[in-house]
Amino acid sequence: MIQYSLEDLQTILQLDSRYYGFLDLSDPKNSELKELIQRTITALQDEVAHSYSMNIIKQHDGKLVPTKSDQPISDGEHIKENSCNTQYQSKDFKWGMSNETSSNKSVAEIDEVDVNTYCKLGHLHLLMYEHSEALSAYQKYMRLCEKYWEDHAFLYGIGIVYFEFRCFKWSIKSLQELLYLNPHFTCANEAHLRLGLMLKANGEFRTALKHLQLALIDTSPSTFTDLQVKFQIAHLYEVQNKHKAAKESYEFILNNKNVSLDLKADIYRQLGWMYHCVECLGEKKERESNALLFLQKSIEADPKCGQSLYLLGRCYAGVNKVHDAFLAYRNSVEKSEGNADTWCSIGVLYQQQNQPTDALQAYICAVQLDKEHRSAWTNLGILYESCGQLRDAYACYSNAIKRISNKKIGNGQEGNKAVFSKSSTNGLTKGLAQRVKFLESQLSQAPLPSITSKRRQLCSIEEAWNLPISLEINSRQQQQSVQMQQRQFGKNPSVQGPPPPYPHSHGSQSNPLPAKRSKDDGEYSFLQQNQKNLNEQQDKLLHQLSAQNRQALKNSSSPGPTSSTSTSETISDRTNFGSEIISSDNIKEDTDANDLARIVSTVTDQKLKIRCQNISTKLSEDQGLNNYDGTNVSIKYESLTNCNDDTQNNFKDQKPKVEYDNDQESLPTFNIQMDSKQLLSAVKLLPVDEPPINFTITAKNAPPPAPPDCPPQRLTREQLLPPTPSVHLENKKNAFSPQLQEFCLKHPIAVVRGLAGALKLDLGLFSTKTLVEANPDHSVEVRTQVNQSPDENWDVSQAKRVWACISHRSHTTIAKYAQYQASSFQDSLKDEGDKGSAGSQVMSDSDSKDSVSNSNINLKRKRQKNGSKMLRFGTNVDLSDERKWKPQLSELQKLPAFARVISAANMLSHVGHVILGMNTVQLYMKVPGSRTPGHQENNNFCSININIGPGDCEWFAVPDAYWGGIHNLCEKNSISYLHGSWWPVLEDLYKENIPVYRFIQKPGDLVWVNAGCVHWVQSVGWCNNIAWNVGPLTARQYSLAIERYEWNKLQSFKSIVPMIHLSWNLARNIKVSDVKLFELIKMCLLQSLKNVFHLQEYVKSKGVEVRFNGRGKNEASHYCGQCEVEVFNVLFIREQEKRHVVHCLPCALKLSPSLQGIVCLEEYRLSELQQVYDSFTLYRTQGLGQAH
Ligand SMILES: [Zn+2]
Repeated sequence: MIQYSLEDLQTILQLDSRYYGFLDLSDPKNSELKELIQRTITALQDEVAHSYSMNIIKQHDGKLVPTKSDQPISDGEHIKENSCNTQYQSKDFKWGMSNETSSNKSVAEIDEVDVNTYCKLGHLHLLMYEHSEALSAYQKYMRLCEKYWEDHAFLYGIGIVYFEFRCFKWSIKSLQELLYLNPHFTCANEAHLRLGLMLKANGEFRTALKHLQLALIDTSPSTFTDLQVKFQIAHLYEVQNKHKAAKESYEFILNNKNVSLDLKADIYRQLGWMYHCVECLGEKKERESNALLFLQKSIEADPKCGQSLYLLGRCYAGVNKVHDAFLAYRNSVEKSEGNADTWCSIGVLYQQQNQPTDALQAYICAVQLDKEHRSAWTNLGILYESCGQLRDAYACYSNAIKRISNKKIGNGQEGNKAVFSKSSTNGLTKGLAQRVKFLESQLSQAPLPSITSKRRQLCSIEEAWNLPISLEINSRQQQQSVQMQQRQFGKNPSVQGPPPPYPHSHGSQSNPLPAKRSKDDGEYSFLQQNQKNLNEQQDKLLHQLSAQNRQALKNSSSPGPTSSTSTSETISDRTNFGSEIISSDNIKEDTDANDLARIVSTVTDQKLKIRCQNISTKLSEDQGLNNYDGTNVSIKYESLTNCNDDTQNNFKDQKPKVEYDNDQESLPTFNIQMDSKQLLSAVKLLPVDEPPINFTITAKNAPPPAPPDCPPQRLTREQLLPPTPSVHLENKKNAFSPQLQEFCLKHPIAVVRGLAGALKLDLGLFSTKTLVEANPDHSVEVRTQVNQSPDENWDVSQAKRVWACISHRSHTTIAKYAQYQASSFQDSLKDEGDKGSAGSQVMSDSDSKDSVSNSNINLKRKRQKNGSKMLRFGTNVDLSDERKWKPQLSELQKLPAFARVISAANMLSHVGHVILGMNTVQLYMKVPGSRTPGHQENNNFCSININIGPGDCEWFAVPDAYWGGIHNLCEKNSISYLHGSWWPVLEDLYKENIPVYRFIQKPGDLVWVNAGCVHWVQSVGWCNNIAWNVGPLTARQYSLAIERYEWNKLQSFKSIVPMIHLSWNLARNIKVSDVKLFELIKMCLLQSLKNVFHLQEYVKSKGVEVRFNGRGKNEASHYCGQCEVEVFNVLFIREQEKRHVVHCLPCALKLSPSLQGIVCLEEYRLSELQQVYDSFTLYRTQGLGQAH
C-alpha cells in the first residue's frame, strides 16, 4: 500500500486525459508532480497485479471464482475489429505472479480491481506520454466497463491515444461519440481539431472543415493557436485543389505579425510547392522562380526541415539544375532520417545523368527504407528494362503493383462536391499492369537462361538488395554522401531483410498473352527504350512517378496499424499518368503529421498555468474523501467518484457527467406519463451551473448510436438473391385498395407494375419533349459519370473493381440536356445501323452497350484520356414550383393517398415548409448508364419513384437491417457511407451475407422504397424518372427517422428533416392511436420540452434574457450556422453580426463562454408547448387501427 498526503490525493484525483498537452511533465517545475504520477502508476499496477495473482491462486485452489476481468469481453465486436488492439493485448497488465500478500484485507476485497483503476491508469500513462501503456489500460477499461461511454474523459483519452497511433478510424469514433454525448466537453476544441485533421486525411473535406471551424471559434484554452487552425483550413483548400483560395489563405496568415517561425516555414513550403505544381498560379518561369524563392524562405525559417530541402531539390531538378538538386537532396537526407522519397528522387537524377548503377543504389535505398514505395519500385523496373534485364524489371513492376493493391483507394468525393479521385494511381496501375503482362509474355516465350545469360549491365535485384553499399557509388561519390548512406543503413538495420520474392508463376502455365503492346503503355515503352536520353518532359514524368503515393516511413514504423490509418494518398486527385501536373500529395501527409505533432506539443506557458492552477487550488479544499484516514489513503475509486468538487476552475465538467435523466437518486427522473407541470418542476431540480448536455431525443441512457450488426442468419445463395416483391395492377380499384399499401409497407422494397396504365396517368407530361416546351430554361444539375455495365464499378483506368463512384458536377438547362439526350439516342441508332450493315443482329439494350464499347465508332465519342466512355446524367430537377409545373403536379393527384406528394397521412406534409426533393417532386433525365449511387433516403424516409420511360431502369436494393454491413464495407473501402458516393461490388455483399434485390423498372412502374432500404439505380435505356419522399404514419417510419437523426448528429451530417419541429407539428395536427408511435412521439416531445426549459433556465442563470420572437407562417425550421444541428425554439444569435446566424447553445458558448453579446430568442411560448404536450394523448378508437 502506498501512502499519500491529502494534497497528493487531491492532485491525483484531478488528473485525467483533459490535461494532455497542457501539462508538461518534462518541465523541471513539474518534477514533483511527475514523480507523484509515477508513484501512483506503480501503485495501481501493483494493485492490478496483485488481484491477478490472487485470482490465479484461487483458481488453483479449485474455487473457480469468476472475476470481472475474466468475464467475456462485453464489447467483443469492437475489440476484435480493432486491429490496433491485438498488438497491445500482450502487454495487458501481465505483471506476472506475485506471491506477496501484503495486505490485511480479506481475500474477497482484493480479488477484484475496480474498473476505474484501468481508466485512471490510462489517464496517467497518457499524461506521461506513455501511449501504448495508456492504450492498453483504456482498452481494458472499455472491455470491462459496461457503459464506458458515460465517462467522457475516457472517450477523450482513448480518442487521443488512437490519434497518436494514427488509428484514425477508432479515434474518430471515440471523439465523435464524445462530442455527441457532450458538446460542451472541456477539450471539445481539441477533439474538433483532431477530427478535422483526420477527416481531412480521409478525404471527407466538408466535415473536416466543419470541425476545424468549430475548433477555430472556440475561445477556451487550447494547445494550438488560431493561426495553426487557419493553416489547416488553408491546407484543406489546397488538398481540394482550390489553389487560389489556399494561396490567399496562406498569404493571409503570413500577414499576421504573430505567425511563428515554424508556421512560416510550413506556409512557405506549401506555397513553394504549389508554385512548382499548379499551373493556374502563373506563367511557368515565374512559378519556378517563386517556387525556389519560397522553398528557400521555408528553409531559412526552419533550417532543419528535410522536407523543404527535398522539395527544393525537386524544383532544381525541374529546372535542370542538377548539381543544386543533388546538393538539396543530400542536405535533405542529412536532415530527415530515412526519407525514401528523397532517395527515389536521387535515383531519378542519376538515371537522367545516365548513371544506372548509382540510380540502382539510390532506388534500393528507397525501397529498403520503405518497402511499399511504389514509385521507387516502378522506377527500378524502368531502369532494369532499359538495361534489358527483363526478369528484374518484371519483379520490380510486380512489387509496385502489389504495393498499390495493398493500399486503399481514396474516395475523394464528398458531399456534393465531386472531384476526380486517384486517377493518378489508377492510370499508373493500368500502365503497370499492362507492362507486367507484356513482360510476362516475353518471359514465358523466351526461356529463362537466354535472358539471364546475357551480360548484365546491372546486378540483379536480389544482389542489389543484399549489397549494403556499392563500391561504385563509394568510389564515385563524395565521401560525405557515402557516409550518409551508411548511416542510413546503420540506423535502420531492420529494413534489410530478404529481398522481395520474385513472383513464382510468371508465364509458365498461364496462357501466353499477345506480345503486342496496347496503346496505353506507349508512354512506358518510350521511356524504357529511351532511358538514356531523357529530356525534361520525360524527366518530369519520372518525377511524377516518384511523387505518387508513397507510404510514409513514419507509418510503417509506427507501432499502430497502418492500413486504415495512414494519412497518405487519400487526398491527391490530380495527376493522370503521362499528364503534366505533379501532384503535391507527397508533402501533404507530412504536413499533417508534423504540424499535428507540433500543434499538439505547443503549450503556451499561460495556458498551462490556467489548467494547472486547478490542481493547486484544489489543495486547500477538503471534501468528500470518505476514505481519508489521517495520513494514508489507499486509492479506491468508488469513494473518489462521489467526491464533490465544485471548486472554481476552468474545466466546465469536472467529472464525466452522466445524463441528467438517469436513475440516480439525487436527480429527478422523467417519463412520458408526466404532465408538463410535473416535467417543469422536475427540470427545476436539475443543476444549471453547467450547460445542459443531453440533447438526444431518444430514450435515456442509450449508448451512442452506431450502425447495427447484420442479421446473423446465414443465407443460401438463393436467399442472397431474393425475388423482388412486386404486384401488377389491373385497374384503378387495385391501385386504391388498402392491400396495396399494406403490401408496400410490409416489404423493404416493392415494384408496383402497370400503375400508370391502371390510373391512366399521362406520363407524356413528364416526357423530355413536354418538359422542354413547358420550361426550356429550367435548371438541371448534371453528373458526368463513367459508363459501365450495371453490376460493375471499375476505377477510372478500368484496372480494378472498386466501390468509389466518380462523378463530376455541373449545371445546364432542360433544353440543353434534352438536346444531349436526343443526340445520344441518335448516335446509338447510328451505331446499331453500322453494326447491322456489318451483318450483326439487332441487339438488346444491354448487349448493344457492350458491343458499342468495342466498336470503332466509339472512338469518336467523348472519351476520357484513359479510354472510358463518359455520360451525363441530368439529376435533381426541381419541380416544386406549382406555377411552372401545374399540369404535371396535378396529374400526380391521381395517385393513391399513400403515394401522393401531399397527404394528411404523410409525415412530410406536416413539416410545414418545403424540403426540396422530399416533400416536392424531383425529376431525373437519363441516358443509358446514368447512375444514382448507393444510399438510404434522407432520415430514412420512404420514397416513391415512377419511371416515365421510354427506356428501363435497373434497381439494386438491400433491406434496411443490413445497412450496418454496407456501412462497414464502405469503411473498408475508405468511403464515407453518408458523405461519399459508392457503388457496391455485388460479390463483396454476398461474401458478407448481405442479400440484394435486383429488378427492372419499366415505364409506368412505381418503385416503393421502404424506410431505411439501401438502394442504387442505373438506367438501362433513355428515360426520365420522377421521385419524392413520403412518411407513412407508422412507428417503424418514425423510429427509423429518429434513429438516423441521431446518427447524423454524431456524424456531423445535416438532417434535412427537422425531426423535433416535425414532431411538435405532428402532435398538433394528428391523432395517434398506434401505441408505439404515440410513445415515440411523446418521448421526443418530452425530451425536447425538457431541453428547452432546462436551456432557458441555464441561460437565465447566466443573466441573459430570453426574448420572445415568435415564428413566421411557414417559416423554415432552424439549423445551427456552425454545426448544422437542428435548433428548436431557443435560438442564439450574435448581437453585432449583420447577418443573423442562428447558433445552438454549444456553439454560442464556444463564441462567448459567458453568453455576453449573444441574444437568446424564443419561438414558442413555453405555455404553448406545454399545452401541445399535455393535449397530445393516445387516441382511442374502436378497433380501428390507424388514426388520421
Ligand atoms: Zn452548433
